[in-house]
Amino acid sequence: MVEGATVSARVIDGKAIASQVEAEVREALAKLPYKPGLVAVRVGNDPASEVYVRNKARKARELGIRGDELVFDASIAEADLLAEVQRLNSDDNVDGILVQLPLPRQIDPKKVIKAIDPRKDVDGFHPMNVGLLHLGQPSLVPCTPAGVLRLIASTGTKIEGARAVVIGRSDIVGKPVAALLLQQNATVTICHSRTRNLASVVREGDIVVAAIGKPKFVTAEMIKPGAIVIDVGINRVDGKLAGDVDFERVREIASWITPVPGGVGPMTIAMLMSNTVTAAKVRRR
Ligand code: NAP
Repeated sequence: MVEGATVSARVIDGKAIASQVEAEVREALAKLPYKPGLVAVRVGNDPASEVYVRNKARKARELGIRGDELVFDASIAEADLLAEVQRLNSDDNVDGILVQLPLPRQIDPKKVIKAIDPRKDVDGFHPMNVGLLHLGQPSLVPCTPAGVLRLIASTGTKIEGARAVVIGRSDIVGKPVAALLLQQNATVTICHSRTRNLASVVREGDIVVAAIGKPKFVTAEMIKPGAIVIDVGINRVDGKLAGDVDFERVREIASWITPVPGGVGPMTIAMLMSNTVTAAKVRRR
């Protein structure tokens, strides 16, 4: 190598890997004697939620899953939403239920998530699925974390024995990503807003997963040469999407890196489709 030359990380193509997952879903669907059903529930008209729910139902239909949107007025009472969830629980044609968050103030999201039949909880947020995940037992795994693991696997790098650093400890991303990495025998450290010497902790990571919600939070100085860097962050900067990682600088240090957009984002819906098929197969067998 020429002295002073920099080697750029290989970019992990989330769109291409999401397409592979979708192809697997189509294949699995072709073998089923029935068409699984996914219901995406939305309350109110938050524009971002509207787009997410529409895209989920649309993708389901595109792949051959029955994808329905169920929309309620923002003023719906908690008891009425819980009754709707119960109705979906007892509908045998419904295999997957997801309730798009956030919910209006009068509704406790914890109660709603708990009301979903864990066998139909395709978001993997029900306490039963969270518990099973942490016990290392089969469960419906949250979609974004499952996508993160699939992206890491796509690099062919051995996770077992690797030092993995997860930045962020939310219930929907950081914690489940850490649990999945641990299941695969990585040595896992979770960083958060109270972590001391965060840069030096992150620099130990062979695998770094950033799920913070702050643009360019992860800088090149924090990255061990050759590390795999997965950027979960979605931030809006000057009207454009940006991740949590300083992509241009970090790519000169890392061996593999995900872009934003086009990295983790496309994986989330693909894994939701995969979870819907899994939920159907397990419940209907
Ligand atoms: P969250 O619930 O806000 O959690 C953020 C985490 O980052 C918290 O654990 C917080 O620590 C930590 N954090 C904040 N500031 C920090 C700092 N200065 N130093 C160290 N840690 C810090 O966010 P989330 O729901 O996990 O989402 C994280 C990001 O991923 C967001 O940008 C979100 O939009 C994105 N996201 C993307 C997808 C996708 O499909 N690609 C899916 C979900 C989320 P504390 O716990 O100590 O407060």
